[in-house]
Amino acid sequence: MSKKNRFELDAERLATTDESGARVYLYPEDVVGVWKNRRTIFYWFLILLYLVFPWIYIKGKPALMLNIFTREFTFVGFTLHGVEPIFLFLVVISSLFFIAFLTSILGRVWCGWGCPQTVFISTIFSKIETIIEGGARARKELDEAPWTINKTLRRSLKWFCFTIVSLHIAHTFIGYIVGPRELLAMSLHNPMENSGLFITVMVVSAIFLFDFGWFREQFCIIACPYGRMQSVMMDENSLVVAYDKKRGEPRRGQVPRDEEGDCINCYACVKVCPTGIDIRRGTQLECIACTNCIDACDEIMEKVKKPHGLIRYSSENELLGKKHSFITPRSILYFCVFLIFISAFAYFISHISRPNLVFIRGSDSPFQTIIEPNGSVEITNHFTLKITHQGDETLSLNLEVSDELLRKKIEIVSPLKNLKIDSPNIKTMVFFKFSPDILINGSRLIKLNLIKDNNIVTTEELTLVGPSN
Ligand code: SF4
Ligand code: SF4
Repeated sequence: MSKKNRFELDAERLATTDESGARVYLYPEDVVGVWKNRRTIFYWFLILLYLVFPWIYIKGKPALMLNIFTREFTFVGFTLHGVEPIFLFLVVISSLFFIAFLTSILGRVWCGWGCPQTVFISTIFSKIETIIEGGARARKELDEAPWTINKTLRRSLKWFCFTIVSLHIAHTFIGYIVGPRELLAMSLHNPMENSGLFITVMVVSAIFLFDFGWFREQFCIIACPYGRMQSVMMDENSLVVAYDKKRGEPRRGQVPRDEEGDCINCYACVKVCPTGIDIRRGTQLECIACTNCIDACDEIMEKVKKPHGLIRYSSENELLGKKHSFITPRSILYFCVFLIFISAFAYFISHISRPNLVFIRGSDSPFQTIIEPNGSVEITNHFTLKITHQGDETLSLNLEVSDELLRKKIEIVSPLKNLKIDSPNIKTMVFFKFSPDILINGSRLIKLNLIKDNNIVTTEELTLVGPSN
């Protein structure tokens, strides 16, 4: 039987805790391989997108900005003003169900390929650590070594670099909220002039520094709500990083050579795992699908002249030789719920993107009676009209009575003739002047069209009032 390897994990507890429950620090080894290359390219693409996107200005506004203070949301040149909580709710809930849909098909693809934690740690923080402190073994030795000038210098330099990177990530993050130019301008002044913002940036930087620099896999294992929920979203048809037991077992050292499977029990897959697990024990909550173990094992397979793929992207059903399909009732259900919420969002957007009219009747008297010089009697009603609209373009609006016959009898006396609207909220006075013979028992419900660029953008109802006889 095999002698216990130091990478052999205790079946009863996590690799990241000891018998007393204290944290065991991991020193995952670097890995090279096809998946690592793919992920590195994709990660740098995401980082560039994250850093550059807010600096792209379209129509004078950042390409993406969610200003929670002014409730303004800007996306590629279109601005929503006074964003209601329902808008954010629909965005968040649609995203959650879309991620659930992707998870049910592609497993923890978000953790391995899109999560900022994985992207920043793998691409920047681990690299800085390796350059300053060396590979996995050197880092472990440095950790265990007594404090010397060498260790102090290396540690200080590492945390200084981590701090600079965290500050940069946090500033970019806040730039998505207040706008990068505005943030840059504020940053050049005394921090106390914008103390709230300054404290926010410092707190966000500290959170990034703590998490990416020190907490790391602990977040995935014990704190991430998505990690906890993934077992609900996935099933035996979901794509996961998995070890092919049928091919690999019995592993080397457990049986005579001619009976063993392809796994040579080298623990290369365990040594590179950022959460410290042994994927040969099956799919586990701690697996973030980073693909490191695929590359590590493929490298070993090349050395022992066996085909790649002992560890690979697969599904439990596929590994068991059962029929499997990525599209399951569960994934269809998630997609349908996503469609419902995204449709509600689209409906909401299409409605708020139209100018909205609110007529507030004048508070002095509901109507006035005017005797014209020719002796005819006319009635006037006056209103305050509130117009709100989304977007930043200047609108040119007109108001007309919908009914053509009534249009000739009701005069709209107001500035609302080619009114230019260059702010998301305006108020104006509107007078309606009409003959009392249009009234029925002292009132008349009319419809009004709001015209923009010769098109009716919305129709509102309004009641005109006058003497009842
Ligand atoms: S088991 Fe493999 S894919 Fe999962 S976290 Fe560890 S190295 Fe990454
Ligand atoms: S890297 Fe491959 S061969 Fe080595 S222990 Fe892991 S599964 Fe077995």
